[in-house]
Amino acid sequence: MKIMVQKFGGTSLADAKKIKHAAGRVIATVKKGYGVVVVASARGKQTDQLVADALELNSNPPRREMDQLLSTGEQQSVSLFAMALDALGHDAISLTGSQIRMMTDSMHTQARIQSIGADRIHKHLEQGKIVIVAGFQGIDENENITTLGRGGSDTTAVAIAAALEADRCEIYTDVNGIYSADPRIFKNAVKLDQICYDEMLELASFGAGVMHPRAIECGKKYDVEIHVRSSAEQTDGTIITHEVPQMEGVAVSGATIQRDLAKIGLVGVENSPGNAAKVFAHLARAKVVVNDIIQTEISAEKANLSFMIDISDLAATKEAVEQIKNEINCESIFVRNDIAEVSVVGVGMRSHYGVAEKMFDALAKAKVNIDSITTSEIRISCAVDKSEAEKALEAVCTAFELDRPAAQRAS
Ligand code: ADP
Ligand code: ASP
Ligand code: MG
Repeated sequence: MKIMVQKFGGTSLADAKKIKHAAGRVIATVKKGYGVVVVASARGKQTDQLVADALELNSNPPRREMDQLLSTGEQQSVSLFAMALDALGHDAISLTGSQIRMMTDSMHTQARIQSIGADRIHKHLEQGKIVIVAGFQGIDENENITTLGRGGSDTTAVAIAAALEADRCEIYTDVNGIYSADPRIFKNAVKLDQICYDEMLELASFGAGVMHPRAIECGKKYDVEIHVRSSAEQTDGTIITHEVPQMEGVAVSGATIQRDLAKIGLVGVENSPGNAAKVFAHLARAKVVVNDIIQTEISAEKANLSFMIDISDLAATKEAVEQIKNEINCESIFVRNDIAEVSVVGVGMRSHYGVAEKMFDALAKAKVNIDSITTSEIRISCAVDKSEAEKALEAVCTAFELDRPAAQRAS
């Protein structure tokens, strides 16, 4: 049987009319002869609301209980979706993460998928049913409910497509596909027909919230072609796939803003072996994910160390660095909680020169000061003041002509 996985995001399921519309798209796919597995997110802003409910009662809620709570949003969507299909005359069954044995590690609120029990889904598909699976959730080896991190239903969908060896995985959302930048911020962004996994992974990891980064990692690893499409309009969307040589012809494919970052600086740390290891061991114990680590020797005796974290980890990070401060002879700690990062991404950077210069020049002309710069083989990121992030994105997008299709750009 040919299998298609179709994932619907929260805005695409926000009310009964939208659920019926999504159900209609699923039925159209069934009529083409596919066995369809739907992955559904929580409706509308329900996950945000559940987070707010938790924080009203406890400013630092136990992560296990957070997962127990947040998973209920998706559980509602899947049963409502199955009811909508039933009302339209189609046999459907909704399943939670635990019912499909979506096994994860025990990292509550950021769990990683370890395996999926595909047998039950196959059995229902063979019975002619449409299977509706709750996104974003799994269980650990002790049967505790886990969640995969915000936006994680994308990862559920791609992982299920991989486990079922589906023909493809379609991600239905509230935009027409992947754009050269978030179209809600840079109005003239253009839709991309296709993008390779590596570029999409960098875009998603550096702020393009349209896809969950782990979904892209999983798609690349298991060869799942991912189509990102509009749930409202019948358009082709964007295909996320393996790199083809023509992709290198474009220096920059997309740009992003990552907000909600904080930068921590440890100033005047004793310049001796093992100090960096001590700092990051403490942070790992506090379960803080760290990015953009920069260490600079300032004299034979002293070094400065800085790194970025998600602002939600700020309290845990401050506590961890305060604990280690004396042990590493750190003179002072500075914290910036008003940072955002603007990034440009493109596999073409490997073969084009002048990309960094163009980005820095665009920011200079827009009078945006650069706090720090980090790069990968296919990305350049500049940390800037949060209040200037949108201006910076606009300037960078204009400089790289991200407002027109690649074929029409001057360079
Ligand atoms: P869903 O609820 O369907 O999962 P999300 O809100 O997670 O939807 O993702 C869709 C949103 O991602 C869009 O509304 C858009 O504002 C944002 N976005 C950010 N960067 C991009 C981009 N490069 N291309 C398209 N959308 C983007
Ligand atoms: N409902 C979850 C969230 O809002 C997961 C998802 O939508 O992908 O983050
Ligand atoms: Mg999403």
